[in-house]
Amino acid sequence: MEKLVVVGTGHAASALLSSLARHHYQGRVTLVGDETHPPYNRPPLSKKFLSEEINPAELYFRRPEQLAASGIDLHLGDGAAKLDTDRRTITLASGSSVEYSVLVLATGALPRKLPIGVDESGGGVHVLRNIDDALRLKADLRAARSIVVIGAGYVGLEVAASCALLGKEVTVVEAATRVLARVAGSELAGIIQHVHESHGVSFLLETTVTRVSKAAGKFNLELSGGDRLTADIVLCAIGAVPNIDLAEAAGLAIDRGIVTDTHCLTADDRIYAIGDCATFPRDGTFVRLESVQNASDQAETVARRICGLDAEYDPLPWFWSDQYDLRLQSVGLATGAEGSIIRSRENSHSIWHHRDGRIIALDTINASRDHMLARKVLARGELPLNLLQQVEFDLSRIWAA
Ligand code: FAD
Repeated sequence: MEKLVVVGTGHAASALLSSLARHHYQGRVTLVGDETHPPYNRPPLSKKFLSEEINPAELYFRRPEQLAASGIDLHLGDGAAKLDTDRRTITLASGSSVEYSVLVLATGALPRKLPIGVDESGGGVHVLRNIDDALRLKADLRAARSIVVIGAGYVGLEVAASCALLGKEVTVVEAATRVLARVAGSELAGIIQHVHESHGVSFLLETTVTRVSKAAGKFNLELSGGDRLTADIVLCAIGAVPNIDLAEAAGLAIDRGIVTDTHCLTADDRIYAIGDCATFPRDGTFVRLESVQNASDQAETVARRICGLDAEYDPLPWFWSDQYDLRLQSVGLATGAEGSIIRSRENSHSIWHHRDGRIIALDTINASRDHMLARKVLARGELPLNLLQQVEFDLSRIWAA
């Protein structure tokens, strides 16, 4: 019987289990995770998990006993330490080993570290990737009055929003000229920064932190330009790096992530890689996405292939973020856009990015209907800009056309 081993217990692994069940997979499944928790929902960690009373177990997709009852061999809190591709074995941190005939690497990503020395004495700078990080941050927030968030990407801004809602004094320090510089267009970034400011959040843009130290329970931050900040808590949210150590040590190809083909297969035809740890070919380069969409859709591709069905990964990327009472959603990749058209109604905004006369991406704030329609229309093919202009942005008419 086929022995499938999945390393990692995040979104990609969880989606893989669901897809395998949907396709009636008959082999044995072993799930290996270095966290003690079963697969859980990660996005709430920076959102309502911080500002509301939520028990970690409420985030679990399935409890350990439910996984065991469906025949899954579970190794939680015992990460994969070594991969031997010749003998097709994984050695776990505890020293025990598991054999595979098919292996799926779903090891996710790790928080990027500040590229400066940080004095960790008396409690360190926070990062936020998993439940344990979130519990530590939440515990420290109870007594804190102020927080500095380093990094104005989605995670940094979501934590800033959660902390502002808790009544904390929040300062966001960002090296780039604007917020969400790597992940969203400047129009959406401008609107969201304004909303944060209206909730009392301060921004220091084009500013880097050059030194962090701690004295008498307070953090002291030295900034480029010579200014200083003090705060009770510091969160470093400057992005994530793919968790590739296991694959790299085993000799698998790495190019900003574990290299895969359009089937999510690595150069070893027994090993797939999916989710935040993997890169895949697109437009002549390798792309790595960090989103639930990417983890789930790659998992479906791999489950289909393991079950002998046809599948190729050619995604239409989409993403969401919740901040205050706003739902931000993006579909498509705005990279290389030549311009954008904004349509706003009260506190809802749709920002259409175009290139060569075609719509390539849509950013929305509180406009879920436009987002869902754009997902259908863009998945169907390209959307000509002139058609959009003719129908005065009423996407349902384009869909009907
Ligand atoms: P992960 O979910 O990170 O899971 C990887 C797992 O593998 C981890 O449990 C890790 O500990 C484990 N692991 C690593 N190495 C080993 C090893 N050697 N042995 C065993 N286990 C190992 N995306 C969205 O689309 N929308 C959002 O709103 C959103 N919000 C987010 C908020 C936060 C705070 C974070 C951190 C991420 C957010 N994301 C969001 C991104 C999304 O959560 C990730 O893209 C998604 O979790 C990727 O799934 P994954 O399975 O690849 O990785």
